[in-house]
Amino acid sequence: MSDSLVLLFQNIGLTEQKAKETAKNKTLAPNLEKAIHSAGFQDKPSEKSTGALLYHLASTITPGAASHLDYIAKAIRDSKLTTADQVSAAIKFVNDKKDIDEAAFDKECGVGVVVTKDDVNKAVDEYTETVRDRLIKDRYKFFGPFFAGAKNIISLRWANGGDVKEAVDAKMLEILGPKDERDIAIKKKKETKPEIKEEKEIEETVSVLKVPDMFFEGELAKLHKPGGNPQIKPELMEAHLKATGGKYITRFPPEPNGFLHIGHAKAINVNFGLARAHNGICNLRYDDTNPEAEEERYFVSILEIVKWLGFTPSEITYSSTHFQRLYELAIELIKKDKAYVCHCTGEEIQMHRGGPERGPRTACVHRDRPIQESLDLFEKMKNGEFEEGQAILRMKMDLENGNPQFWDLVAYRVLKTPHHRTGSEWVIYPTYDYTHCLVDSFENITHSLCTVEFTQSRYSYYWLCDALEVYKPVQWEYGRLNVTNTILSKRKIAELVRKGLVFDWDDPRLYTLPAIRRRGVPPQAINNFVHTLGVTKSDTVIEATKLDAFIRDYLNETAPRLMGVFHPIKVVIENLPEGYEQMLTVQNKPRDPSMGEHTIPFTREVWIDGSDFREVDDKDFFRLAPGKTVGLLNVPCPITCTKVIKDESGKVIELVARYEDAPGFKRPKTYIQWVAESPKHGSPVRLDEVRLFERLFNHSNPHDKREVPGGYLSDVNTSSLTVEKGALVETGLWDIMDRWAKSSETKTDYEAMRFQLTRIGYFCVDKESDLGDFKAKPEMSLKDTVKRLILNRTVNLQVSSALKK
Ligand code: ATP
Ligand code: MG
Repeated sequence: MSDSLVLLFQNIGLTEQKAKETAKNKTLAPNLEKAIHSAGFQDKPSEKSTGALLYHLASTITPGAASHLDYIAKAIRDSKLTTADQVSAAIKFVNDKKDIDEAAFDKECGVGVVVTKDDVNKAVDEYTETVRDRLIKDRYKFFGPFFAGAKNIISLRWANGGDVKEAVDAKMLEILGPKDERDIAIKKKKETKPEIKEEKEIEETVSVLKVPDMFFEGELAKLHKPGGNPQIKPELMEAHLKATGGKYITRFPPEPNGFLHIGHAKAINVNFGLARAHNGICNLRYDDTNPEAEEERYFVSILEIVKWLGFTPSEITYSSTHFQRLYELAIELIKKDKAYVCHCTGEEIQMHRGGPERGPRTACVHRDRPIQESLDLFEKMKNGEFEEGQAILRMKMDLENGNPQFWDLVAYRVLKTPHHRTGSEWVIYPTYDYTHCLVDSFENITHSLCTVEFTQSRYSYYWLCDALEVYKPVQWEYGRLNVTNTILSKRKIAELVRKGLVFDWDDPRLYTLPAIRRRGVPPQAINNFVHTLGVTKSDTVIEATKLDAFIRDYLNETAPRLMGVFHPIKVVIENLPEGYEQMLTVQNKPRDPSMGEHTIPFTREVWIDGSDFREVDDKDFFRLAPGKTVGLLNVPCPITCTKVIKDESGKVIELVARYEDAPGFKRPKTYIQWVAESPKHGSPVRLDEVRLFERLFNHSNPHDKREVPGGYLSDVNTSSLTVEKGALVETGLWDIMDRWAKSSETKTDYEAMRFQLTRIGYFCVDKESDLGDFKAKPEMSLKDTVKRLILNRTVNLQVSSALKK
């Protein structure tokens, strides 16, 4: 990374940190560099708002628009484009164009259009009248649809989103008055309500309080409204709207062939989030059409993770529920002469598709067989009269079309493995291409959101719905989310587990969601992270360190602070009496009383960390050394080391110190953490293990053969796990654990016990801990039941240069 690039990026208002991260990003950096040069800010700083637009341009530009980056950057410089929406419109407009017609560009991007606050208020006033009844009925829950509706008013296309939000907020306040108890669902006691209801209430609480802006900005704001997608026959739309009442309906459709990963967190947020933003619903659909890869534990884990992230599926559905209906439609498709049974092998199909040279495409001999023959053969396939690979059903599409998704896709294949849900009832299974759109149609999905690798499939999706004359949802694609220094591929993770390079699928060094969860990352941090990335068509590759920084920031705000020492040395404070005990009140987070406080004992014997003591002093060392004074965090007066006790081998085993409580004592330069010896308070808390994790792979792209010629298995960081034994923590940990035991519903989410160890990092309790039979004795403190305690480090603290020393 070059320093000049970092400086260049700081010129447009990026912080040093952000500039450095950007400079490392191989796609973004050259784009941004080019944009800055085009706009002429290589030698002088730009306004921050101009810089933000250049950044938006560089980070969202599509390959088809890349040749016009210079043009758009200049339009930003000349203040022709002044909002992110306009820049997005510009990118869309120039995409795949050779020459730019200036007038058309200006018109399409709203150049020169000024929408004043007055205009906004007026338009919102008018719009309010059209939705007044719903507003009064749904009150603040209606914010999402209200805001989206207002933003979609044609005259407000180029209005500032903030102005629209302000107008909508003001209108709501005017009509509804301030929020009251009707607007905030209160979580009820568990006994009085069945579980499902309770989750729904939480969900509503969230939706009232927070709808991320991302669903009302950029591309997502431009999606059609229910009812707005054309159909091959108008009555299909009538029936659809009758069934849905005009609601937004989305689905999250994982294949239950593995555990979800960080990328899926985006998919979950996009699908559930879009529905929630518009008061719609989202289903969890197990796309279980491949019996060979599915396992019960995946089904269970997927639902658990969706709930952990804070979403409740409106319905849990399975593609396999529709096997009969899909089969009947396949027969209909054959009867319409739009499908045929084919016996070609994989290689033959490749040859018919033009082979590796991409030559002309040809029809196979089966394509024109009589309809009745295909019907009979398909019946035989269904009855098990063909072995795997001997026959398939193919859609009769359009071999002339340039899109490979039209080259007679496979609809059904013979598979003789029993299915997780339907057992041996079927020996033919529908493919993704055949199933996905039809099940979307059956479920009345309004917006079928998927990742960009399905862009070409959009056309075959529509083809099949139209061929069968069924309701046709709209497919819309967004970019995948990936993280560096890891692998997400299920097959490769399986290999790591098999080789014993990680504990299991939820090893905290992995980026599956169960692993991230086990590492102690709070679900809100993941959701917030996904929201800050926004939703565009481009894939995003996030540096693992950037994700860590985000998690750290979130925990910094939310995690209580405790003191702990990893390499304890005992300190006896000689001038305090035997049995001395002072209870100290410490804030859970310094300078933030809202986080509460807890008490800890201070006694004659305390433990400090070995790294905070030095036998041979140094003028740059400000902690404990013979004759030197240091502060103990939260303790009123400092201590001075008066004596060092060693064993026969010369190892320091104990320190003797003096408590400096004489009036007028000097304030110490430095404070260190400590833990009291006080068995009656359960102090110290003795940890069996603390697991410290580092990157699992040495390279950013371990799966890339150019970067790692030896393959990802050769790239595993052999020191990615360090286990510390014998660490001690203060009694605040018991408070956290007892509170958890009282409030946790499942009592299995050990990772929800999270905290910061001052000056060390963020930690949580690992699921391999043995908390004893605490469930049987709810009146007891966990300090009396715990048998084995293991912590995971979620992230370290940002190491400041002073501490490194
Ligand atoms: P993988 O191949 O990475 O395991 P997949 O595509 O096979 O993933 P599915 O279970 O089919 O996983 O995915 C469920 C949904 O999640 C799909 O809509 C898919 O587009 C989306 N999805 C999968 N990976 C990502 C990702 N990295 N970023 C965003 N969305 C993703
Ligand atoms: Mg898949």
